Amino acid sequence: MSDRFAQVALPLPLASSYTYRIPETLGDRVAPGARVVVPVRQRELVGLVVAVDAPAPQSAARDILAAPDPEPALPVKLLAAVEWMAGYYGAPLGLALKAALPGGMWGASRVLVLPTGVTVSPGGLAGEVLDWLVRRGGAVPVSTATRALRRPLWEVLDRLARVGAVALRVEPPETDADAATERVATLTGSEPPTLLERRGLFRRSPVQRRLYDTIERLGGVVQVGHLTGQLGFKAAVLRSLEQRGLIRIHLAERVRDPFANSPASPPPESLTSAQADALAGIEGLDPGAGAVLFGVTGSGKTLVYLEAARRALANGRGAIVLVPEIALTPQTVSRLRGAFGDEIAVLHSALSDGERADAWRMLRRGERRVAVGARSAVFAPVHDLGLIVLDEEHETSYKNGETPRYHARDVAEVRARIEGARLVLGSATPSLETMARTPDRLRLLRLPERIGARPMPAVELIDLRVAPRVAGTGSIGWSEALDAAVLATLAHREQVLLLLNRRGFAAFLQCADCGEVWQCPRCTISLTVHQSPPGLRCHYCGHQEPLPPTCRACGHPVHQMRGFGTQQLERLLAERYPDARLARMDLDTTSTKWSHQRILALVEAGDVDLLIGTQMIAKGLDFPNVTLVGVVDADTGLYLPDFRSAERTFQLLAQVAGRAGRGPKGGRVLIQTRHPAHHALIWAARHDTEGFLREESALRESPAYPPATRLVNLVVSGAVEGEVGGRAAEVAEWCVALAEKRALPMEVLGPAPCPLARIKERWRWHVLLKGPSRVLGLVVRYAARRLPRRDGVRVVIDRDPVTLL
Ligand code: ADP
Ligand code: ZN
Repeated sequence: MSDRFAQVALPLPLASSYTYRIPETLGDRVAPGARVVVPVRQRELVGLVVAVDAPAPQSAARDILAAPDPEPALPVKLLAAVEWMAGYYGAPLGLALKAALPGGMWGASRVLVLPTGVTVSPGGLAGEVLDWLVRRGGAVPVSTATRALRRPLWEVLDRLARVGAVALRVEPPETDADAATERVATLTGSEPPTLLERRGLFRRSPVQRRLYDTIERLGGVVQVGHLTGQLGFKAAVLRSLEQRGLIRIHLAERVRDPFANSPASPPPESLTSAQADALAGIEGLDPGAGAVLFGVTGSGKTLVYLEAARRALANGRGAIVLVPEIALTPQTVSRLRGAFGDEIAVLHSALSDGERADAWRMLRRGERRVAVGARSAVFAPVHDLGLIVLDEEHETSYKNGETPRYHARDVAEVRARIEGARLVLGSATPSLETMARTPDRLRLLRLPERIGARPMPAVELIDLRVAPRVAGTGSIGWSEALDAAVLATLAHREQVLLLLNRRGFAAFLQCADCGEVWQCPRCTISLTVHQSPPGLRCHYCGHQEPLPPTCRACGHPVHQMRGFGTQQLERLLAERYPDARLARMDLDTTSTKWSHQRILALVEAGDVDLLIGTQMIAKGLDFPNVTLVGVVDADTGLYLPDFRSAERTFQLLAQVAGRAGRGPKGGRVLIQTRHPAHHALIWAARHDTEGFLREESALRESPAYPPATRLVNLVVSGAVEGEVGGRAAEVAEWCVALAEKRALPMEVLGPAPCPLARIKERWRWHVLLKGPSRVLGLVVRYAARRLPRRDGVRVVIDRDPVTLL
């Protein structure tokens, strides 16, 4: 019989897979999706079989050493989806598989051997090895045994496994079991000191006050490591607070799964007729087809997902529900848990590799039939997948920020097609890309009204250029209207959400007087202010112009707009509303794993009157006692140098407005802006998503941006600025040459510096390609092989980028 060969992918950034010979004894176990142990130089690695019956290689192939899985670890259909992903995004298959599989199943995993107790008495080396294993007792890593016995063991172990004397097992690395407890700092005392008392307490030590306030904001209990690590407090400051009796430092059990004991909320009894229609629309889809569930905020989309999943289960199939971020959507998770109880596996970021691998195995074996999680849960090995739901499908967190740069929505669409599952994309503010696919590729289903016919909250735009402001609030721009609304809401003992989405940089130029913003004449993208050399630059095409001394629209002297952040806002509010209980939610206050949940639980329990936050507070929350939503500055994202800035602003405003008035008390929304005539604001104030989509799609036609065209962003980065710029120029030339040679209808923009010109000490330039998907696919395939890295300068291929920053 002639030799058979298998194609094996390794968890390395290698463009191709490798060919190994299949020893006859392993023949039946080497199948696509199975894990195998293969020699790689002097090491042994766990690889994944991607194909069998591969053609014989040119040079001699080495043997597969072992195949421990009785059944392939990765289902074949899932493997097909991952292969599609690697090809579409130009990512090495090894990295694509690594992104799809839990860490503990592959990559760092190792193979253990354990004697089964079956008595055989082989002679020679096999006998020696078995004796040694029995003497050692228990499972031993094969590498340990090899070292101890000082010879290659795979063949022997394979023979012993065949006769049942030993078993081979692929295991995740030890998960740090010591991590069961952690040191935390807890505030003492039942009543927090008032602002006045605080002033006295911390008169001489502002740092102690900052630490105290921080712990309080984080919910009163914080890991010590987080305070001294990410937040940078000195251990001595913690000790001082402890000595003063203001905090207690002690060991506490680590929170592993905060959802495990969270209350499971039972779903409402019956569907409204609009929900029933939407459900019928989903049920009526052909297998493999998809729909958009376009339902206003508060229209009850979650219950439709639940029912659709329940039907899938009733038909013996499984479901995946994707949410933008698990920590931000505790309510959705508890509703799902309420409906499905033990059928559910919640995949979240606090799981260790081992726990993740356990969840994976339970799904793989069909012991859990519903997977809930963020982006990567799109790869959950659900048995006989019948439904994939993406909640808030417009969210950018569905796009992976590293190789493979996949978008979960597109992977979900392909996976649904391969598995014959139905796809549901839900949102109150669907993306332009998704809406462009209706009605041909996606059926459009609507929930036009809130549950109980509750009205949408009234939205008022406050023009900061003319509105009277509260004296002493300086650059923050605190209008009397918003002030009065906050006071009234607090007086009624209702809750306020305040959104301030201030990103790290706000370096576009805006006239403080009339609001004029400088844009690129060629790209309709705002120009970025540069300090050295001083000037305005377009980060798409490289256009430059000098900084103007006066505003071209109104003639006033121009100052660069200066930003202020949530922190300053919090200080202002604490002074202005001394009796209100404040909480703040942004990246600084939520970098510990479950702090979001703690803060949201305080809001839900009514222990917070005023929640200040970045876009984190705009998502999916359902708090009936929130009757006022204030947007402190709607313009922060409006002129970022990104063609999606209007869309993002619209989505953010519409979503945060949707948090108001979800209960019987109704609600209102106040939006402060210097651009009350901007279409993103106008349509958001009218709750008119379709109006916005219509106007914005027209703007994407010329110059063309998605969905009118498709994009690939080639990001070049490296430590030396000159080299990066040089390489970017080469990349652009390479693209132009390819387009000419193949007569490809493709536009090459740049090279230009990225708006975020330097990240983590790496300079960044980019080249932007525009063209039809088919053409860009071809370029990506070539680029993946030709462009990746040279002399420390890296080229990242970002197909369908969600941001060009
Ligand atoms: P969306 O996700 O569309 O913003 P939700 O799914 O959060 O809306 O639903 C809004 C509120 O309406 C929730 O409190 C939910 O429990 C309630 N709700 C949804 N469907 C029904 C129904 N059929 N009957 C009664 N209440 C419902
Ligand atoms: Zn330009």
